[in-house]
Amino acid sequence: MDLLTKLAAVAAAAAMMLSGTLKEAAPQHDTDGTLFLVNRQQMVSPAFVPKGLREAQVPGQVRQLREDAAAALEEMYAACKEETKAQLTSVSGYRSYSRQNALYRAKLQRVNGSVAKAQEYVAPPGASEHHLGLAMDVGQQSKAALTNAFADTTGGIWMRENCWRFGFILRYGEEWEEVTGYKYEPWHFRFVGKELAKEIHDANVPFETWLAEYRVRVMKKMLEEDTP
Ligand SMILES: [Zn+2]
Repeated sequence: MDLLTKLAAVAAAAAMMLSGTLKEAAPQHDTDGTLFLVNRQQMVSPAFVPKGLREAQVPGQVRQLREDAAAALEEMYAACKEETKAQLTSVSGYRSYSRQNALYRAKLQRVNGSVAKAQEYVAPPGASEHHLGLAMDVGQQSKAALTNAFADTTGGIWMRENCWRFGFILRYGEEWEEVTGYKYEPWHFRFVGKELAKEIHDANVPFETWLAEYRVRVMKKMLEEDTP
């Protein structure tokens, strides 16, 4: 191996170590991970497109999700059907930046240009979790979709209690508006992976709150490991 090749190998190893550490320490910025944070404060770039989108094989519309979330969603809908007989549907999964922009503009027009009113439910482009391919608005067949009434349907109740088993969390819980910036949305579920969904579910706090505490824990652990 000549010197240049050796140097390149060392640089590559260093970069890998560094990015591995960053991913662990700052999962809220890892676009390929499951803890990537998007809200009104932390927006995602217009050019961002999630890797590995596919149509979830479930009834409904706008069924695209990231591969890991799509597989988990299929498993979750099948389990709900088996356990309750209720058929869940896809109301809205992945939305590109331009799709979100169109939705937002349309909403803005309907509320006579009031940004505050428009933002109550429709995120401005770049601030929506749907842009990540990790969020699904869940409905139940022939029941009210995207209204609070979903919370009292068989599917809505089952989802609230069981979504964590499949790696999803209820993202905009009741009384979390001050932290999340969104009103209660009993239909919006976010994929975080099976590994941590139970922990987040049990903590019963907004994702933002849990994530901040989780990062402190990870950083502490890393510091401890670094100290001889
Ligand atoms: Zn949603």
